[in-house]
Amino acid sequence: MSEEKNTSAKIAPLRKARPCPECGKPSSREDYPFCSNRCREVDLSRWLSGSYAIPVADDEAKAEHQDDQ
Ligand SMILES: [Zn+2]
Repeated sequence: MSEEKNTSAKIAPLRKARPCPECGKPSSREDYPFCSNRCREVDLSRWLSGSYAIPVADDEAKAEHQDDQ
């Protein structure tokens, strides 16, 4: 009759591949979430060059304040 009720819930769909944040190609498993090592390095160099804003200064200021007490 309805044998599918046993299996359908257990089978998870394959993970949808995320596009590479650099070029939009499907990411590879090795270089996830990027499509290639090249795109990974591009992203990394962007980090190092400071294009990403890292909101850390505020935390440090708070920590310093706590130390003061
Ligand atoms: Zn890419």
